[in-house]
Amino acid sequence: MKNLRSEVIKYAKMLNSRKLSALRSGNVSVRYKDGFLITPSGAKYSLLKNKDIVFVSIQGKFDKKKGIPSSEWKFHQDIYNNKTEAKAIIHSHSNCATAISTHGKGIPAFHYMIAMAGGNDIKCAKYATYGTRELSKNILKVLKQRKACLIGNHGQIAFSENLSKAFELAEEVENLSNQYIKALKIGKPKILSSKEMNKVLSKAKNYKKG
Ligand code: 13P
Ligand code: ZN
Repeated sequence: MKNLRSEVIKYAKMLNSRKLSALRSGNVSVRYKDGFLITPSGAKYSLLKNKDIVFVSIQGKFDKKKGIPSSEWKFHQDIYNNKTEAKAIIHSHSNCATAISTHGKGIPAFHYMIAMAGGNDIKCAKYATYGTRELSKNILKVLKQRKACLIGNHGQIAFSENLSKAFELAEEVENLSNQYIKALKIGKPKILSSKEMNKVLSKAKNYKKG
């Protein structure tokens, strides 16, 4: 468990160093036993110690004396409860993804790498106040058949089978968001057809990087 706590801290620090989330925004969690380990609320990542990482049960119970979990623990809980394949979750306010989310729009298949999020687009969850079950419900709606989404006027979420893959997907969502904004600046990008995206999606299933 000590190692898993330091892993959470490692990726929380990377939110800052890889410029996915400035200052204290965003949060990181990993599935653990009958629940998950999550970054504490409002923490400065550079100061995190193993004891600061909070355990939340899959029923949403935690010991306040041991620390207050991220204000977004409800959507982490709901994702773990609804997606057996989710073993780690990264939430960030990355610049370009957040900029697109303020339009309440997702990202269409302007590039084939959209398939990395599991389908032929990346959807945007409807805005709701941070930390609420309402936000969590909106997020689950757009995560059907997907491993990542934008959150309206807020940021993005990515999950995967481990912290490293979840973080890589979060970086890919930000990269695609950046490219999409640039593409929009010079007109209307061509969107790949569902037929083409289906080909990419079946190829991507067998695509393994070292
Ligand atoms: P926490 O510090 O409570 O995790 O909040 C950060 C955040 O991104 C809220 O959406
Ligand atoms: Zn947030």
